[in-house]
Amino acid sequence: MESQVVDELLSLQEMDGEIARSRVELSAMEEESRLLEERLEAARRGESAIAVRVEEADRALRQYERTVQAGRATLKRLQQRAQEVAKQRAAMAARVEMDAARQNLDSAETAMLEGMQVQDRVRAEHQAALEALELEQQAADERLSEINRLSAELADSLAIQRDRRENRALRIDGSVRSVYDRVRAGRTSEALAPVVEGVCGHCFTSIPLQRQAEIRGGKALIVCETCGVILHADR
Ligand SMILES: [Zn+2]
Repeated sequence: MESQVVDELLSLQEMDGEIARSRVELSAMEEESRLLEERLEAARRGESAIAVRVEEADRALRQYERTVQAGRATLKRLQQRAQEVAKQRAAMAARVEMDAARQNLDSAETAMLEGMQVQDRVRAEHQAALEALELEQQAADERLSEINRLSAELADSLAIQRDRRENRALRIDGSVRSVYDRVRAGRTSEALAPVVEGVCGHCFTSIPLQRQAEIRGGKALIVCETCGVILHADR
């Protein structure tokens, strides 16, 4: 193998490395924007759940208020009747009924006050969730537009890198190129490795002396029998 062929393959390998790094960066950005969307969605769901609890608290409070109003009306009606009844026994009965009505009203008023506290608490919680959501949305929007911009730039330079790579590949002999492509398609992304101190620079298996001589001679492409990379003389 001519050393020029090795140089060409090494520069092809470098370009392939660049392309691989760009693709990793690009998919990292896709992943980041996916995570951002996911987190936003979770925050939105959290906010909706609290909004439902606000509605429940409002509804409960309206119910307590109706009960209190009904209790007050009952008590008022009983008070009027107590004033009207003259007889001792009827007045007694009216007082008993009024005591019961007062007790009911007391517990209805207590429930209403508690309902108001619950409503205040849940509303405050909802307000905090809305504010947090807004901040998160803003931050996510900024980062997402940043990611979009960077991804577009990266996609452009990736297209240029691929173009340059294809042009370079076309200048390399077809059979050499197909060995390179086959090695790269296998287990290793690095298709070439130097022989360093008699071992494969990729898997560190020692290379027989005869093969080392062939590699130095550069008459043919020699691949490592253990890991399959194309071996070249250390330089
Ligand atoms: Zn090897």
